[in-house]
Amino acid sequence: MIDLLIKNAVLVDGRRDISIIVNRGVIDDVITGFDAPAAQTIDAGGMLVSPPFVDAHFHMDATLSYGLPRVNESGTLLEGIALWGELKPHLTFDALVERALAYCDWAVAKGLLAIRTHVDICDERLLAVDALLEVKRRVKPYLDLQLVTFPQDGIGRWKDSTGKPTAINLLRLALDKGADVVGGIPHFERTMSEGATSVKLLCEEAAKRGLRVDMHCDETDDPMSRHIETLAFETQRLGMQGRVNGSHLTSMHSMDNYYVSKLIPLMRESGVSAVANPLINITIQGRHDTYPKRRGMTRVPELMAAGVDVAFGHDCVMDPWYSLGSGDMLEVAHMGLHVAQMTGQAAMRACFDAVTKIPAKILGLEDYGVEKGCNADFVILQARDPIEAIRTRATRLKVIRRGRVIAATAPNTATISLSGRPATVDFLHG
Ligand SMILES: [Zn+2]
Repeated sequence: MIDLLIKNAVLVDGRRDISIIVNRGVIDDVITGFDAPAAQTIDAGGMLVSPPFVDAHFHMDATLSYGLPRVNESGTLLEGIALWGELKPHLTFDALVERALAYCDWAVAKGLLAIRTHVDICDERLLAVDALLEVKRRVKPYLDLQLVTFPQDGIGRWKDSTGKPTAINLLRLALDKGADVVGGIPHFERTMSEGATSVKLLCEEAAKRGLRVDMHCDETDDPMSRHIETLAFETQRLGMQGRVNGSHLTSMHSMDNYYVSKLIPLMRESGVSAVANPLINITIQGRHDTYPKRRGMTRVPELMAAGVDVAFGHDCVMDPWYSLGSGDMLEVAHMGLHVAQMTGQAAMRACFDAVTKIPAKILGLEDYGVEKGCNADFVILQARDPIEAIRTRATRLKVIRRGRVIAATAPNTATISLSGRPATVDFLHG
């Protein structure tokens, strides 16, 4: 007998009346209108069955620290940085693990089953690295967690307690301990040339170890911050095509159009992907402007049109920099769609892909998707297509991992008492 049969599903590509047959945690088949006895049958009721959401950019060492030791009163980046500095000496292993696990609970409930998190390695204790390696081990049955060695204070800029710039040693140690991806923050190094040197050094480290690279790159409104060019060049030089990602890339918003007309093809050639973080980019960038105020998000539709893989990341949830968020990647896609003015039909669908299959590709997830042979990981959404899912930030009716329901939410239905009108509304169209 079939372990799990999901029937009457709609898929992201528009196929309808689909049945998904699951055995031993794997999709055995995806066929139209099939029915048969199964140990468990779920009628999707014509709703969208999507592969799980994937967040390609997050900071799990800081998440849910809102209010510790105090809240960010002004809501600015500067107060956020000061606040992180106040919090860092008081972090404990247990508290880091507990907050991260609590966030993973939220993520699972929202159908977010894979997260790439940056972890601050500018700490001689490497406390957050140890804590998140423990979290990675504990959540493995239900969530794929990737750790990026992130030198928050700069690989050349940060000094240890003896005044030495030893961040590269800590980064290497974090990789030896089991972190997955090499991070960086070239625009935060002291000079442009030190930033470029850091890109080269870190890409070489990753190439030597056969690892992927994901750098916070050009997260500034300065149009002359051009580390993405160096990152793309090094990717090509080291033969790392398809394994390197530039996160944020907000300077591209403000760059000269002629320069960008050269840069985007270089990124395409190098197989470098991009992650924009719309919730954070729209709140942090353009803060030095009066009016007009720049939006600051990177050139998402232009990069997509050129064939560059672009994902949307959540970046922060209830931490020193951002007081909001809940692990809802549809909220992220919703904001990205608005900030990038991606209101065309294909563009809206691309925003859904930017929180599902594209970040899955960037993370290098294997057997991801609602296809024969893939892992039986899905989300049943209270929506009939991806655009409706973004519009309503659709309820995750059921979240399934390896063929087992691991989270469920009651449908979003309101009761109304108006004469001559229906008794309920569910915000679905037609
Ligand atoms: Zn970040």
